[in-house]
Amino acid sequence: MERGFTISVIGLGLIGGSILKKLKNTENKLIGVSRRQETIDKAFEEGLISEGSVKLDVIKNSDFVFVCSPINKTLQIIIDAGKITKTSAIITDVASIKSPITDFINKSNDPINFIGGHPMAGTEYKGLDSSFAELFEGAKWVLTPCRWTTKDSINLLKNLIEKLGAETIIAEPDEHDKAVALISHMPLLLSQSLYSLVKNHPDKKTGDLAMQLASSGFRDMTRLAATNPELSIDMIMENKENVVNAMKELIQEYSVIEKKLKEEQAYTKICFDLARSREKIYSKEGKNFYKGLNL
Ligand code: NAP
Repeated sequence: MERGFTISVIGLGLIGGSILKKLKNTENKLIGVSRRQETIDKAFEEGLISEGSVKLDVIKNSDFVFVCSPINKTLQIIIDAGKITKTSAIITDVASIKSPITDFINKSNDPINFIGGHPMAGTEYKGLDSSFAELFEGAKWVLTPCRWTTKDSINLLKNLIEKLGAETIIAEPDEHDKAVALISHMPLLLSQSLYSLVKNHPDKKTGDLAMQLASSGFRDMTRLAATNPELSIDMIMENKENVVNAMKELIQEYSVIEKKLKEEQAYTKICFDLARSREKIYSKEGKNFYKGLNL
């Protein structure tokens, strides 16, 4: 039989709640900390935690601490958690940006058993009520070790994350931030731009008709524009340079494709090539199974 751990989750929203829901009814002891007592009460009612508080002190005997607060609160909570917990406790976070947090911890002279984390799973909703146990099923979960990270800690955290249903990928924080700018943060800006263009179209009659006709294509392309605004602001502002660069690359890519429109054959080739490649990277259930193939 496996030994149970004491696992604390700080920030019981979409991500923190989903971690607890997946670990509910396991051999682990689960502790919750959130900003509002109301959220803690709800977590108790749902049987997600056996201890909980709006104060950090409850996490002191933890083996693992998941910091799942908004991005702009994450670093301070990690530092505070490091001071409260035993030195062997593994502290991780789930923030969508990794460099600012890891850089600060790497420059600090206070050792902390911290490993940055980012589950590549989410929805446009927020809060404990939106969380669900299957959120991380088949998802990638990036880990960005810091200078204090030991191999043992990485292995322990990897095992736990695999129990949440995800597959871990180790990356450098700045490489992570550039990559998520391309596939998550720039698409958010693109989605906002598209939605804004149609909603505020200079030709009001056309814009209004387009909004009435908008179906699955527009819904899929603009889903990210409905992202929890607190999260959107933090993600874009904290990763602004990479996002702006990615947007410039996108505009350049568009100009290449636009030139091909002059010749039907050239554009036809692009349509076939991209459709074939795109259909290979996701399963029918929408999970990414790209393994570095030459698509
Ligand atoms: P969320 O649903 O809004 O949840 C955030 C939670 O943090 C709320 O439950 C809130 O508590 C709590 N909180 C706020 N300030 C706090 C504080 N000072 N101390 C303790 N708890 C505090 O947000 P989320 O989507 O789960 O995002 C949380 C983190 O996950 C962010 O770092 C984000 O980058 C990352 N992430 C999000 C997604 C996504 O798609 N949403 C995907 C991957 C990673 P109350 O409910 O008590 O007010």
